[in-house]
Amino acid sequence: MAVCETCGNDYEMAFEIRAQGVTHTFDSFECAMHTMAPRCEHCGVMIVGHGHQVDGRFFCCAHCASASQGASTVDHA
Ligand SMILES: [Zn+2]
Ligand SMILES: [Zn+2]
Repeated sequence: MAVCETCGNDYEMAFEIRAQGVTHTFDSFECAMHTMAPRCEHCGVMIVGHGHQVDGRFFCCAHCASASQGASTVDHA
């Protein structure tokens, strides 16, 4: 059994996600996203798709990235 690090649920179907050398354990994708998904710096939305990374800062879309820092960036296809 493994315990979800977000909500503490002890669940037999828990799974692990490895990121940047650290292994995280979750009971659901919702909990995984809650803990691991970056947030858009402009609107605060949780980024669960490709999103945008500009100079190490995360944005949900090109609109937010350009609105926040005036950078010209385009959405991932
Ligand atoms: Zn959980
Ligand atoms: Zn945004």
